Parts: sequence; structure tokens; C-alpha cells
Amino acid sequence: MEKYVFITGGVVSSLGKGISGASIGKLLQLHGFKVTMIKFDPYINVDPGTMNPYQHGEVFVTIDGTESDLDLGTYERFLDIYTSKANTNTAGDIYQTVINKERNGDYGGDTVQVIPHITDEIKKRFRALKNNFDISIIEIGGTIGDIEGLPFVEAVRQFQLENSKEDVFSIHVTLVPYISGANELKTKPTQHSVNKLREIGILPNMIICRSGYRLNNLLKKKISLFCNVDENCVVEALDSPYVYSIPEALYKQNVDSLIMKKLNIKPAKRFDKKWFCKVRLLSKFNKKVNIAVVGKYAALKDAYKSVDESLNIAAAEVNAKADIYYLDAEDEDLIKKLWGCNAILVPGGFGNRGIEGKIKSITYARKNKIPFLGICLGMQCSVIEISRNLAKLESANSTEFDENTKYPVIKILDEQKKIKYRGGTMRLGNYKSEVKKNTLAYDLYRNTEIEERHRHRYEMNPKFVGALEKIGLLVSARHKGVLPEIIEMKDHPFFIGVQFHPEFASRPMKAHPIFKGFIKAALKESVNIK
Ligand code: GLN
Repeated sequence: MEKYVFITGGVVSSLGKGISGASIGKLLQLHGFKVTMIKFDPYINVDPGTMNPYQHGEVFVTIDGTESDLDLGTYERFLDIYTSKANTNTAGDIYQTVINKERNGDYGGDTVQVIPHITDEIKKRFRALKNNFDISIIEIGGTIGDIEGLPFVEAVRQFQLENSKEDVFSIHVTLVPYISGANELKTKPTQHSVNKLREIGILPNMIICRSGYRLNNLLKKKISLFCNVDENCVVEALDSPYVYSIPEALYKQNVDSLIMKKLNIKPAKRFDKKWFCKVRLLSKFNKKVNIAVVGKYAALKDAYKSVDESLNIAAAEVNAKADIYYLDAEDEDLIKKLWGCNAILVPGGFGNRGIEGKIKSITYARKNKIPFLGICLGMQCSVIEISRNLAKLESANSTEFDENTKYPVIKILDEQKKIKYRGGTMRLGNYKSEVKKNTLAYDLYRNTEIEERHRHRYEMNPKFVGALEKIGLLVSARHKGVLPEIIEMKDHPFFIGVQFHPEFASRPMKAHPIFKGFIKAALKESVNIK
């Protein structure tokens, strides 16, 4: 079976196309199909690795070490799958492939053009995962009408033409805004957006209308008539505080049956509603916990999307609600703002800005015995903090921030320069490490072998481990017996720093052990989670 569902978006960006697509994917999965999702981003960057999180949110990392758009995180969490390089595409990467082929003489003297060469490359990538999955849900980033998105939409048109009608389903996600002066929901933007789509030659089979208010039948009829889609295929998607309840909202509108009917597929197994019940249970809580996240991009939650999800998922599993406060590491009143927080998390990051603020909050967490979790740069900052303030290695630093520091407790290791990592100088993707028994790390994982995702250049310098272990630090996991992967403090209820990114591995109903332990410690419950 080889079926494709395309998702485009209209009117405005940030409509949650990824969440709509992933919710549909979840429903199809619950019917027993193998479902994947593939993202196409029309920007020229070859990958989002170097993009400012303030513009595009966090960089998600797949297990094969691909730096990708944060939507891949949504796909992984909803569908409980692992994505890879084949799940993320950008215009830059596609053009680069075509240009490289041209330089290589692969086009035999042809004039290389957007149509057919770029569109052919795009169509090839639509099919990239067809052998491993029954249904590929393909999300086209951007908004219909954007110049740079044209080759992608054109490729969708061609793909529809070249494949059986039974194999392709097209969904357009739009906005139905409420105009307060008129006290009305307006369908005109949706009509215009669908018109644009039809101009290009795509007739959507379904319209998902994002709205803050319910759509009545009259409104649905109007959209159906003007946009040329069946009335039952005009679907309402209300703003929802809990994203994992969206699949059920779509199920109640028969979205899954309508798609299966058009694709001419029968459910592969009896639909299991247990997932909906579990989700409903997760949104109930009887306690609250305040978590401070001290970072550089405090003003944009999406910059820490997976951290946010991981904290919420872990809290939900212990019937708690996490109130997460994103604090700017450069805020002069930072420490005052930490008062009343039950736990402190310092996430990953690059560059000097905010480092001293992060270090100060770690001192605060360490001295006041407040549960602390340091992720990647957060772990590196905790090593710097402990070196400076406990081991009295004054001005200890990472060579990322001070190349000539007397005590390079974090550095690019010489042996590392010889190793060829997937990301060039960057350690990217999954790497194994060995966890020591009788440690907090072991209590959490209950395993001596773990494998976690990485995205960093610098490492804790093994030369300082001896000195730091004398003053209470413990390296509780290592990669290949050498590189420190987890550090903890012996005389602290929960102080842990991890060189990797556990946030990318959380799934609803399968909280990551590190996050679950962290939330439990914040709630002052027994950390031993098994
Ligand atoms: N900047 C640090 C490094 O490159 C940490 C990276 C991160 O937190 N992802 O090692």
C-alpha cells in the first residue's frame, strides 16, 4: 500500500499544520496503519541547524543526527516513531542536490529548470519512505501564495495527476477569524486561500478550519459551496489547550473515515479508543509544580519546545500540572524570580550570552538544594559552577567562552578532533553511554546501557574529573569509558547534568526517566520511579 496525504496551509502561518497532520496520522495509526510524516520547508537554508531559534523555534535532532524543524518533534511525539533525514527537506537542500547533479553532468546537457528538475526531486522525496510505511503524510511548510512555496505546491499538483485518485488526499488548513465589530466568523480568507490553491491546480479534499469559536452548519455550508469541498469535509479545529486531545476532536468529525473512504482503504484493525481515554486522564491533575527554565530565548516558548513538552508529559504522568516559567538568563532580577520555584532547569544553547546568569542560578539551586537539571550547555555550566565555587578553580570556563582559560573544564578534546562525527566537529544524533550503578542516573534509568541524542561540540574535560570528584561531583555515565555524559552531586537531593538531550525522546504516556525523576523531585516525591 502506498498512500499520501498532503497538508498545505493558508491565510496565515503558525496554524498548527504539523499538529493537524500528526493528529490525523494518529487516527490512521489507531486504525492499524503504518504512518509517517515528511516535512518540506520552502526556505533556502540547507537545514535549520544554523537558524536562530527566535525565528523558527528549537532545532530538533533525530537519532541519525539530522538537525531539523521542530515539527519533526511533533511527529515523533504524536506517532511514537523515530524520524530521520528523509523526514525533513528544505528548498536549499533540494536545490543543492539538483545543482550538484548538474555539476556532475547528470542531466546530459539539459537546461536545468524548476519544472521539471526541482519538482522531480521534490516528488522523489514525497516517496522516500513508501517502502516502510502505508501512509506518508506530507506537510508543505509556509503559506499558500508565498513565492518560494510555488515549486512545492506545483510538485503536489503533478503528483496528484500522476497517481491514482485513490492514492492521494489533499487537506488545506486555514483560519476562520472572528471579527468582533461584526460579531461574526469570517470565511472570506478561507475562500481566497482555496482559490489560490485551485489556481495552481490543487482541489483540496478537506478543509480544516482553525478557529477560536465553533463553526455552525450555515458557515460550513458556505465554505463547502465556495471552496468546492463536500460539506462533511469542512472540519472545525478549535484552539485547544491540550494538543493530544485534537485527534479525538477530529475523530468525532469522522475525519479518519472520510480519508480512508477516499483512499479506498479498510482499517487494518479494530479502532482502539484507549488512547483517547489515556489522554483524557493525562489532562487531569491534583497538584502543581513550578519549574523555572533559565535560558537565552525566554520570550519564545517554541525555542524550548521539546523541553516544554517533556516537562508537561512528565508532570501529567504523576497527576501534576507543570507551571513553567521561562526566565531570561540576562535578567538582573533573575535570582529573585527563582524564589518559589520548585525546580530549576538550564537547557542547551550556544554562545556566551547569559552564561553568567545561568551559572548564578545553578549556584542557587545547588546551595538551596533545589532540584536541578542541566541539559547539554546547562550541564556544562554546572561543571563550570562547581569548578569555580566548590573546587576553587577560579575563572574555570569552557573554551567556547574563554579560549585561554587557566582551567578548561569544558573543551573540544584533542582525541575528539581525531574522531569523525556525523556532524563534522559536532557530536550529533544517538550515542551510547554506560551508566554506573548506585547513582541517581542508575536509579532513574534502571539500566547500565543507555542511548541518547546529542548536539554539541564541547565536552567535559576528563582531566578535571578526579579533582571534581573529590569535592562531591560524580560522573555517573560515560561514552566509551571516557567522555562524561552524566554528572551529579552526591550531597544534593536531585542535581543532575546531562551532556545529551533527553527532551527529544519524551512521548506522551512515556515520559523520559530524567524528566520524570526531575518532576518527582520537584514535588518532593520519591525519585525512584520504577
Ligand atoms: N554550546 C555547547 C557545545 O557546543 C552546548 C551545545 C548545546 O547545548 N546543544 O558543546
